[in-house]
Amino acid sequence: MAADKLAVTRATFDEVILPVYAPAQFVPVKGKGSRVWDQQGKEYIDFSGGIAVTALGHCHPVLVEALKTQGETLWHTSNVFTNEPALRLASKLIAATFAERVFFANSGAEANEAAFKLARYYASKRHSPYKSKIIAFHNGFHGRTLFTVSVGGQPKYSDGFGPKPADIVHVPFNDLDAVKAVIDDHTCAIVVEPIQGEGGVMPATVEFMQGLRKLCDEHQALLVLDEVQSGMGRSGKLFAYEHYGVTPDILSTAKALGGGFPVSAMLTTNEIASTMSPGVHGTTYGGNPLACAIAEAALDIINTEAVLSGVETRREQFVTALKALDAKLDLFSDIRGKGLLIGAALKPQHAGKARDILNAAAAEGVMILNAGTDVIRFAPSLVIEPTDIEEGMARFAKAVEKVLS
Ligand SMILES: *Cc1c(COP(=O)(O)O)cnc(C)c1O
Repeated sequence: MAADKLAVTRATFDEVILPVYAPAQFVPVKGKGSRVWDQQGKEYIDFSGGIAVTALGHCHPVLVEALKTQGETLWHTSNVFTNEPALRLASKLIAATFAERVFFANSGAEANEAAFKLARYYASKRHSPYKSKIIAFHNGFHGRTLFTVSVGGQPKYSDGFGPKPADIVHVPFNDLDAVKAVIDDHTCAIVVEPIQGEGGVMPATVEFMQGLRKLCDEHQALLVLDEVQSGMGRSGKLFAYEHYGVTPDILSTAKALGGGFPVSAMLTTNEIASTMSPGVHGTTYGGNPLACAIAEAALDIINTEAVLSGVETRREQFVTALKALDAKLDLFSDIRGKGLLIGAALKPQHAGKARDILNAAAAEGVMILNAGTDVIRFAPSLVIEPTDIEEGMARFAKAVEKVLS
């Protein structure tokens, strides 16, 4: 028998959900490609992509097929038993990257938690238990567990949850001298997003990333790249590190990995992985067959020339439309990011209006994101139809004009 359908609305949210979110006033009920419909049947164009998650749009037929097929086959075994989809997905991630070993989890925070624990564990086994310092960056974001939120560089997210994990140092992003000033032989890792997402869609410079790699090598520290948001094709390459000519020691991926199904992974080398042994780390759900079968299908599609090269042409379409809007309204101080992670920073005279623009955009029928109070963020499907970009940007322009008038 089907479960009873209780009538729920946006107002229900304020009664039953922990008040840690302030969701939009409409409730999406259905999605197809880059279009979404709400409870009233109103249609939206989705430029938010579930925060860089639904990289192949909503309900992509190949992902739906993978979900249905695996859903009728085997969902969960725990890690007391391994499974074929996890072994296939790990093999494909290894074939596509620097990595030789994979650990699966369910969210970006968990993949990062594993990454940071591994960095410290490796240092304690290979070097010294006192080699525990983690260098991270202002405005960085790595998730909401206590360790990841403490490595993150926005104190407002970690304040009130103390005592915090110790020996974590934050310095300004893209500032190599600041890193040089704090790195020493007690440093076990530098943790960085190649493109800061939540922190305002800010790409690292090539000199910065290459400098970090060099400093890590000089101090026998590990370079840990958080590619939870920048990875899985978002930048136009499978992982953003490929733009920089650097190889990480550890990399985390999540968000788009499952195309909307929760799954994450931490990638590393044989040498680093070999310090760990059964029981040292683990998870119940991580690497379950259902999640891995869907992620495998997503990876097979995303990691193709057709999808990856399409990212850049779609970016150009977005940027051209944003520049046209800027020429008309004198709106943005910067249009930045890589691939289909696009940040449009509002000029000082429009500072603080990102959220108003978001709400106005929803009213016009287009879903967008902000990154802080002053940056409009776009993270659409990597295969969004050019006609959807055109229509969505027209709706966005209307919304902006309303907010400014
Ligand atoms: C979203 C995000 C995370 C956290 O992922 P969750 O799945 O929400 O735990 C970590 N790092 C970066 C860079 C992210 O964008």
